Amino acid sequence: MRPFTYERARSVADALRRTVGATDDGASAAYLAGGTNLIDHLRLGIRETDRLIDVSHLDLTEVTELEDGGLRVGALARNADVAAHPLVRRRFPVVSAAMLAGASGQLRNMATMGGNLLQRTRCVYFQDPSTPCNKREPGSGCSAIEGLGTYNALIGASDACVAVHPSDLCVALAALDVTVVVEGPLGERRIDFADLHRLPGDHPEQDTTLDRSELITTIEIAGPGFAGHSRYRKLRERASYAFATVSVAAALDVQDGRVADVRLGLGGVAHRPHRARRAEDALRGGPATHEAYAAAIAAELEQARPVPTTPTRCSSCSAPSRRCWTR
Ligand SMILES: Cc1cc2nc3c(=O)[nH]c(=O)nc-3n(C[C@H](O)[C@H](O)[C@H](O)COP(=O)(O)OP(=O)(O)OC[C@H]3O[C@@H](n4cnc5c(N)ncnc54)[C@H](O)[C@@H]3O)c2cc1C
Ligand code: SF4
Repeated sequence: MRPFTYERARSVADALRRTVGATDDGASAAYLAGGTNLIDHLRLGIRETDRLIDVSHLDLTEVTELEDGGLRVGALARNADVAAHPLVRRRFPVVSAAMLAGASGQLRNMATMGGNLLQRTRCVYFQDPSTPCNKREPGSGCSAIEGLGTYNALIGASDACVAVHPSDLCVALAALDVTVVVEGPLGERRIDFADLHRLPGDHPEQDTTLDRSELITTIEIAGPGFAGHSRYRKLRERASYAFATVSVAAALDVQDGRVADVRLGLGGVAHRPHRARRAEDALRGGPATHEAYAAAIAAELEQARPVPTTPTRCSSCSAPSRRCWTR
């Protein structure tokens, strides 16, 4: 592991000053939140930094109400605290359930909201510095395309990278109206959640649209109004402590047996958290039946590009989807 300095930021402005200062000096800097992802990467040599800026003690941990009925969640709130928060459980049960479906109790006690959004892929080759990986080392190649492809992306992959996004929380946020608020050298920036994560294209090394020095301060969850009726279902290889094979976040407004409105997110299948707009369009205004839900998921997966190593992934989507409708 390359040596680095440890610095504890006293405020958002102090964190930015230290990070921008490092860059101006030709050094690199990284924000440390819960450390559950970043520390592993430093240890494995996947990431190197000259300065580690600890932001975990900053006063960005509150859950407060927005005027429109939504919630403002501090980026440094711990996943366990947000999942258990009464307002989150009542207004956005899908968010609470998604976080409880991730990692373990101990990890959720450490992991933060901002860190969860920015966690990196769990592609086994990305985590093994002895193998080629364009995301870790641009231009080195992609070992997953011809290799172990159990978790390869069906949607949004490129010739340079076929990894899936690992976060459960992000699948729930993809189905809602979410704004990510960041603070950078030029001030505050508000990013629509759909614009936070990038598709890999020719540059899979860039996961997000954030500038290196930008700090996520807040996550605003605004709706939709019917998000009180929402669920998260995750299919995985074992009952806990495993990333999603496939997951579904669903918010549903059913009136007189018809789907008045619907929001759907899919996890485990795409390079970034995936909002299933084709399925939503297929369902909206139609009957709330199992047949309609199955047809909607099939419509969404018409864009899927399964590779030989992932033959059953499309059919895997139907089980968690069905469980969302029936509970
Ligand atoms: C064994 C194991 C199992 C797991 N299982 C799951 C699972 O099933 N589902 C799931 O969703 N997740 C899972 N996780 C991932 C876990 O949720 C993430 O590691 C965690 O959410 C990262 O949050 P953190 O606060 O620890 O981030 P850190 O490790 O501190 O940071 C991660 C990245 O985000 C950056 N960062 C952090 N906060 C900010 C901020 N506010 N602004 C700008 N940059 C920031 C850091 O610089 C770093 O690049 C698992 C992790 C482990 C180790
Ligand atoms: S899929 Fe992406 S992360 Fe995995 S080896 Fe290929 S380039 Fe690396």
